[in-house]
Amino acid sequence: MADASGGDAKKGWKPATQAVRGGLMRSQHGEISEALYLTSGYAYDSAEQAMRRMAGEEPGFVYSRYGSPTCEMLQQRLALIEGAETCRVTGSGMGAISSAILAPLKSGDRIVAARVLFGSSRWIIANQMPKYGIESAFVDGADLSAWEREIGKGCQLVLIETPGNPLLDGVDIAAVAKLCRKAGATLVVDNVFATPVLQRPLELGADVVVYSATKHMDGQGRVMAGAILCDNERMSGIYDPWLRHMGPAASPFNAWVVLKGLETLELRVEAQSRAAARLADAIAGHPAIAAVRYPHRQDHPHYDIHARQMRLGGTMLALSVKGGQEAAFRFLNGLELVDICNNLGDTKSLACHPSTTTHRALSDEEQASMGLDRSWIRMSVGLEDADDLEADLIQALNKA
Ligand SMILES: *Cc1c(COP(=O)(O)O)cnc(C)c1O
Repeated sequence: MADASGGDAKKGWKPATQAVRGGLMRSQHGEISEALYLTSGYAYDSAEQAMRRMAGEEPGFVYSRYGSPTCEMLQQRLALIEGAETCRVTGSGMGAISSAILAPLKSGDRIVAARVLFGSSRWIIANQMPKYGIESAFVDGADLSAWEREIGKGCQLVLIETPGNPLLDGVDIAAVAKLCRKAGATLVVDNVFATPVLQRPLELGADVVVYSATKHMDGQGRVMAGAILCDNERMSGIYDPWLRHMGPAASPFNAWVVLKGLETLELRVEAQSRAAARLADAIAGHPAIAAVRYPHRQDHPHYDIHARQMRLGGTMLALSVKGGQEAAFRFLNGLELVDICNNLGDTKSLACHPSTTTHRALSDEEQASMGLDRSWIRMSVGLEDADDLEADLIQALNKA
């Protein structure tokens, strides 16, 4: 039912084709656009069939917390795009990440993670896992000797995010994967910033890839969803029981919106990445700018890592303005086109002040340990004309 071989898709198609056609299951009506099945339950032909379905002896849906046709189409499409054996979708990105890191671990286990992580992922590891007796260590993601030391102390699971939030730090996926393999640890990669269009963690040795589909996959700022991608054995043995009983299932409506978003994922991510690269170059020399971070600019401290494992530099950039928080706020308040918003991956360009919003839960010392201070702005570049975006950033920098 839930492997990636079903639907009308062919496995040999390229990701852009899979993004449009992968996983399509047409009903008897032959609809061109994917059908939206809003149903919680399913009628059985007989009591015997109900018994067989519930026992897993006959394929078919039984209850939408376990799986549903529109979510199934999205799962198959995502697996085909990613080149993964299988996928499960969840109600949010955090539904996917919390499941991906909590389901495999038990009391006494140890998790190692990059210091630069999405705030909620870090919260789970720092605050929830200790209650379950799971130990943790955070390392500088670009420091391979730190990874080697911490993974070598014994660990069952490693979580990384690259490019990381908010300063677009890089982690060498292939190198960390090699250390994980040696230690018998599972490597989970949060690939939200790069998307499957630009970076392929499974091909670099990762075991599990997780997404917030809320970001580039919907891409138009409408719905929340998440995804876990991995091999069939791990999914059926570890994740399926967890997902069924813990209940982070995705809404079929949201899955349908993401299915339609995926059809333009590659186009959007490539166009937004080109615009982001251009904007980073355009503002780098402005007198109000202290520093610019863009993964494919050679002055990014982790340029080598990003150049090796990312096809383009991505849709995100970060800029530091001279004059600290006051100047940063003047810049944000001076924007006329770009919205102030902590979401990302949207067709609308968005900017935020991480120190006081997305990363406010971290102390100044913790922020400093990831290179963050109050002068930084994080920007998600959208699909507006790059001339208009450049003009907006320049006029706001003039006010900063
Ligand atoms: C947004 C985001 C998440 C969380 O996803 P939600 O859909 O908001 O739950 C996790 N990781 C990264 C890198 C994100 O940007």
